[in-house]
Amino acid sequence: MSSLQPVRGTHDLLPDAMRRHRAVVDCAREIAARYGFQEMATPIFEFTEVFKRTLGDTSDIVTKEMYTFAPGAARDQDTRAADGDSITLRPENTAGVARAFISGGLAQQVPMKAFYAGPMFRRERPQKGRQRQFHQFGVELIGVPQPQADIEVIACGAQILEALGLQDAVVLELNTLGDPDSRATYREALVSYFSDHRDSLSEDSRERLTRNPLRILDSKDEGDRRLVADAPLFERYLNPESQDFFAAVRAGLDGLGIAYRLNPRLVRGLDYYCHTAFEFTTDRLGAQSAVMAGGRYDGLIKTMGGPQTPGVGWAAGVERLAMLTAEPAPAPRPIVVVPVGEAAGATALKVTQGLRHAGFVAELGYSGNLKKRLQRADKMNARAALLLGDEELAADSATLRDLDSGEQELVSLKTLTERLSRLA
Ligand code: ATP
Ligand code: MG
Repeated sequence: MSSLQPVRGTHDLLPDAMRRHRAVVDCAREIAARYGFQEMATPIFEFTEVFKRTLGDTSDIVTKEMYTFAPGAARDQDTRAADGDSITLRPENTAGVARAFISGGLAQQVPMKAFYAGPMFRRERPQKGRQRQFHQFGVELIGVPQPQADIEVIACGAQILEALGLQDAVVLELNTLGDPDSRATYREALVSYFSDHRDSLSEDSRERLTRNPLRILDSKDEGDRRLVADAPLFERYLNPESQDFFAAVRAGLDGLGIAYRLNPRLVRGLDYYCHTAFEFTTDRLGAQSAVMAGGRYDGLIKTMGGPQTPGVGWAAGVERLAMLTAEPAPAPRPIVVVPVGEAAGATALKVTQGLRHAGFVAELGYSGNLKKRLQRADKMNARAALLLGDEELAADSATLRDLDSGEQELVSLKTLTERLSRLA
């Protein structure tokens, strides 16, 4: 029977869970639209190269977490299939949006403000709040080099979290990764510091030391974390331009009354980030504390082969947010049409269909005796039942039973929708 279970790390969104999920995404979509972000979608798979180039060969995602297929190899047994043939399920959507920006020739239309929502795929160890197929929504603001863009993007995220009722559940953590020059100087300082403690580093981090020392700051290994605590801080290596940029972002957030906590250890796991890095975190989900994360990625589009174009954005985890939010509004309560006796069948079908066209949620009670059908109406949390028997048919009417009060009245079919719309 194991084949009837969903694959490890994936889950069904059954109707209750789906309603919760939808409520989160609908809220995000509506608020992002107020900021001028327009929804778009990219395919859920791309050429592997799209992710490799942008996430970097040494990132956790690329080295361990990608679902990659080589259709060329599978088709003709050609194991030497070029990387270009290989495709990967998207582990995140920034690379896809950037790829679409380039291939869609949107460079003439900057700034581009995009909102997306959909499933992402990462082969990681499943646990609560960490799945292999999970969902993100996010925004990308492409083409604006000024810190105003960072402020707007963060403000949008903060407003979404507030609209979800999470203002007291999350903290905005903020850092800067500086410009490429500052990063290079800082990188040297880190290499020198960690080289002195090479023997105490985890194996992964020893590897990072040569390939991407900044990543050590992001390590989840206990021993690494102790070393990281005393590592040099980026602050001291920021050049004046990077300092000014960060100051402008902070001043903007201060001006809008958006609270944040400076976290000099916050680095993004992805290679293309610079300047602003941020995460909205919560202490209510155990180890899975990040609910929304993002930053500035001025180098990304150039790295992919497009024109030099700055960008800033974030992505949020829908499952984690859904766990934190209150029960969404219940589904609208249906009106149940109950034919009593054979003759009423056709009329009942017509009445039900008429209600649906008029905008009501309507269900037809199909079978069983009257009592059974009313019990089912109750189970569906129906607001009212419309009984159609011989007498009602003769009078071109229906008996409306208010299922909350139990009251009944005869209503002409002609005035039915008008009468139903007066039900609270
Ligand atoms: P983490 O540190 O938790 O692994 P991350 O840095 O890998 O997160 P991002 O790539 O920044 O996460 O993705 C943005 C958001 O997507 C995260 O803040 C989180 O809410 C959500 N997310 C990431 N990976 C998963 C996953 N495997 N399952 C569920 N949600 C996830
Ligand atoms: Mg991760």
